[in-house]
Amino acid sequence: MSGEQELGITESKEHSPGEWYAEVVQKAGLADYAPMGGFIVTRPRGYAIWERIQDNLDGWFKDTGVENAYFPMFIPESYLEREKDVVEGFDPEVAWVTHGGNEELEERLAVRPTSESIIAPFMADWTRSHRDLPMRLNQWCSVVRWEATETKPFFRTKEFLWQEGHTAHTDEEGAWDETMTRLEQYARLYEDVMALPPLKGRKPEHDKFPGAHTTTSIEALMPDGKSVQAATSHYLGTSFAEAFDITYADADEDENTAHTTSWGISWRAMGALIMTHSDDQGLVLPPALAPDQVVVVPIWQEENKDEVIEYAADLAAELEEAGVRVELDDREHRNPGFKFNEHELNGVPLRVEIGPHEVDDGEATLAHRPDGEQETVGREGIAETVREHLDTVHGKLYASAEETLEGEIREADSREEILGTIGQHGGYVKCGWCGDEDCEDPIKDAIAAEIVMVPLDRDEEPIHDECAICGEDAEETAYFAKSY
Ligand code: AMP
Repeated sequence: MSGEQELGITESKEHSPGEWYAEVVQKAGLADYAPMGGFIVTRPRGYAIWERIQDNLDGWFKDTGVENAYFPMFIPESYLEREKDVVEGFDPEVAWVTHGGNEELEERLAVRPTSESIIAPFMADWTRSHRDLPMRLNQWCSVVRWEATETKPFFRTKEFLWQEGHTAHTDEEGAWDETMTRLEQYARLYEDVMALPPLKGRKPEHDKFPGAHTTTSIEALMPDGKSVQAATSHYLGTSFAEAFDITYADADEDENTAHTTSWGISWRAMGALIMTHSDDQGLVLPPALAPDQVVVVPIWQEENKDEVIEYAADLAAELEEAGVRVELDDREHRNPGFKFNEHELNGVPLRVEIGPHEVDDGEATLAHRPDGEQETVGREGIAETVREHLDTVHGKLYASAEETLEGEIREADSREEILGTIGQHGGYVKCGWCGDEDCEDPIKDAIAAEIVMVPLDRDEEPIHDECAICGEDAEETAYFAKSY
């Protein structure tokens, strides 16, 4: 039994969230720390979750006109320089390749921190006439940003996995629709797949992606009261197209500049998922992403062993046949209690217990991972019943996260109230804001909270007439929060 102790989570989500998160990630077999600081090794169970996120998004992207492509991971310095016309660039965070073997390179190569500067020149080449547009490219890859901050698996690593979409359109309307389509798809991923309620918003002018006309994002609330930017979708206007000559001939053969977008989601989404749903027993996963959705555990005594195992195996086979990801845990050398703990630690959403009673009565006992709720159900039509219970588990996770979120959006109408409310409770504080970056500073300086978003709709009336900080007329509603 001593192994049981070592297996389990020892840190507390409430009291030591940082240590707890790191422990869950490692003990549930998702990732390990790599020998180089800032890097992680993603283990098969962790990678399987990322693959499912990928599969969902990739399908939706392709259904809406996106094609995948792949560009080199190295970008010539001169290409990166070109981007400087538009953005300050990632200079201090760029990792450089200076040698190939023993030879010093004539031109340094950047390890991509993002790929605009190598993708855009090719999009320019491939765009001749309006008939070539819209052009929608997506790349699944890793990028490297040499950030000095502390490593947190999936949330912040120097190399991280993501997708970056880059599109070009003839006009603003097409590009804006594209920006919103991708934001909606990210929101759908959060709601339907990850069981997390997303907040959709726009970044304030001073916090936009450099060079972007509008930066939109999905924000998700973490249990420690901080917000995480969980995906972004930028309408870039014509600035990147101008810098990279993405132009096209219209129907009258007149040369026009394209409007472009870019959008991305990284494996930080996985971090948000793990941190929100998991608990002091370990990982909790929504069924849509769980590597194993169901574990069937036969519980036998010597005298009924064969029939119990046979019944359980038959049930597992039926679930598998119906397309459920199921594991039969008939290990001899582990007792049921040990198995239950292990599968809870690993975040299997639904456990099916089969003992002699279930066999005699033609039943199965189902237990939900998030709250331990149990129900004994008929063996007949088990696949359908299991599907319903998996949906219930998703619903429970979503409802719990939604309830937390709703309670964590508060209002304030003075600087003291913003500071006091975030200081005491965390979460979001919304207030009237004049639109001036200077009014964010006193909050940033005092408690490191910032405006994480403003409403998507530019015409939405601010919730208060006056800016909570300076008292001037409010232009919009600001959402302040501490963020990752
Ligand atoms: P950006 O290009 O800075 O807009 O970032 C695009 C996406 O990558 C955002 O959704 C971020 O949440 C995510 N991201 C940025 N830096 C990291 C990092 N170090 N680790 C994981 N995800 C990141």
